[in-house]
Amino acid sequence: MWGNKRFHTLNYELKKIFGEKIYKVSLDGGFTCPNRDGTLDDRGCLFCSDKGSGEFAGDRRKSIGVQIEDQLALIENKFPEGKVIAYFQNFTNTYAPIEQLRKLYTEALSHPRVAGLAIATRPDCLPGEVLDLLEEIGGKHFVWLELGLQTIHERTSELINRGYSLEKFIEASDSLKKRKIPFVTHLILGLPGESEREILESVRFVNKSGSWGIKLHLLHLIRGTKLHEYYKENPFLLMEKDEYISLIIDILEILNPETVVHRITGDGSRDTLIGPLWSLDKRSILNGVDKGLKERNTYQGKFYTEDSSDRNYKNPNT
Ligand code: SF4
Repeated sequence: MWGNKRFHTLNYELKKIFGEKIYKVSLDGGFTCPNRDGTLDDRGCLFCSDKGSGEFAGDRRKSIGVQIEDQLALIENKFPEGKVIAYFQNFTNTYAPIEQLRKLYTEALSHPRVAGLAIATRPDCLPGEVLDLLEEIGGKHFVWLELGLQTIHERTSELINRGYSLEKFIEASDSLKKRKIPFVTHLILGLPGESEREILESVRFVNKSGSWGIKLHLLHLIRGTKLHEYYKENPFLLMEKDEYISLIIDILEILNPETVVHRITGDGSRDTLIGPLWSLDKRSILNGVDKGLKERNTYQGKFYTEDSSDRNYKNPNT
């Protein structure tokens, strides 16, 4: 078990690595995304908000140092001292000239309370010079990447306009593994038309990808997104709370016990979230998962059978 939890939490892992409790602060490095700026497309992913999927990050008009101070002030009551991970969250955080990236990452790392970096990006935005920089920084600091895969199924990937193929993800994950740069794979649960069986296939793929961690997001319907427009034309069922909790437990059971679970639910903004509204009560979802794991007398990896060293990906789309 992992502390008092039945799954391998990020909290547990960071305490093990740093010997103390570590928080994350979300930053906006002022980036855009090739899937929004017209390079690949100008529509973006269907679910992406105008904040580039980072609703609670710092203010992009401010410097990284000031954003860190602002974010630390927000958690001052519960975390007045101690280290944090600087999380470059909004848009594509490796999509800029290399010197600009170096400057932003270095500025974050120079803050006395920053213990490491988390960098969200796309697998098609990791050219050699960016990997070199990440490897260099990773030699001195704790750094991980976050990749938004969302699904392995090409049909859904096209529907959500992800803009890169599964092969691209495999290529990037292989390069990251070779350079020993840890990465976290994001999946979205409840995408239109996806069955539980298909979602579990995506999880099994993550097991084989060499991911250090996984982030599970409930699909949020956010006002003003392309997903909202799609929903008006093609209404689909949003997940129910019990269904979601049960699915999370099914996922944890087949997940590699080594994989660090960074998140099992999402953060929706009360002002813009159309549904599912029950997801605003995050505490009750987390409690529901803990309770369900206990009632089923189960835990992460109970039914994990795959050999994580197996690099023979089975691409279900080919
Ligand atoms: S890759 Fe990220 S930032 Fe770009 S459109 Fe998709 S969700 Fe938004």
